[in-house]
Amino acid sequence: MDLLERAFSIPMRMPFRGVTTRSGVLLNGPHGWGEFSPFPDYDESASALWLAAALEATSEPWPAPLRASIPVNVTVPAVGAGAAHSIVRSSGCRTAKVKVGDDGDEARVEAVRDALGPRGRIRIDVNGAWDVGNAAAKIKSLARYDLEYVEQPVASTPDMAALRRSVDVPIAADESIRKGDHRRVVELEAADVAVLKVHPLGGIRRALQIAEELALPAVVSSAIETSIGIAAGVALAAALPELPYACGLATVALLSDDVVADSLVPVEGSIVVRRPAVDDARLERVEPADGPEQRALFERLGRARAALASV
Ligand SMILES: [Mg+2]
Repeated sequence: MDLLERAFSIPMRMPFRGVTTRSGVLLNGPHGWGEFSPFPDYDESASALWLAAALEATSEPWPAPLRASIPVNVTVPAVGAGAAHSIVRSSGCRTAKVKVGDDGDEARVEAVRDALGPRGRIRIDVNGAWDVGNAAAKIKSLARYDLEYVEQPVASTPDMAALRRSVDVPIAADESIRKGDHRRVVELEAADVAVLKVHPLGGIRRALQIAEELALPAVVSSAIETSIGIAAGVALAAALPELPYACGLATVALLSDDVVADSLVPVEGSIVVRRPAVDDARLERVEPADGPEQRALFERLGRARAALASV
């Protein structure tokens, strides 16, 4: 198959979990564009899953959509209370996902509740930063802001299961599915909600398979892709049999630029199900010049290809 491959590198508007730039390679094939942009800390086997998702996008049609638009949450990074308030107010979203795990948690969550009003929904994402004892205390204290669920409060799946039995707020598994083994989540009854990410899980079809095995309500989240990668997440959210929660796909605005002309951003809290194509002029603005940065991105793609071929 003759694939057209184009590198990109886009600074983030604000650092997100230590990441300041999103970069990768866009692949084009008979069914459209796919995005290969594993985070810098992803090893070769994790990057191979990302490549499998990008290749699925180029070489196969996506499953038929069951809905025309996807409700989404605004994502609030670890910023101060004032910034958190204005991010939520300007988003138009009725659900907010708040990153927590530092000293500013309480003030940030309080500001988000104030910005959303009593009917808005708040979920918090801890990225496994707490231990079980600490997590139980924190969750009980933050529960007064009315939490929809807590995402990956502790790192290990057995700890998730133990914590889940000691708090009333529902627990969502993200890293336990993406980095761990989703069958352990089922076995240990470690979660109430499943967070699914197309690229880290190896594609839309594989994510649908995992969702079926988990048999939990699912939330589709991004891995901070351009609109090309977000379109795959939107397609997964559109294909899931049930979609009871808002999805974490409204993250294109965290990037300072994009590679399509009409970005996949929410309007009044929802993203329309569609698949934009790469816009040449936009891509040229974010394409690294011939040189070490571009070479490194293509070398990473090559290593992921070798890893994928050896699976
Ligand atoms: Mg998460």
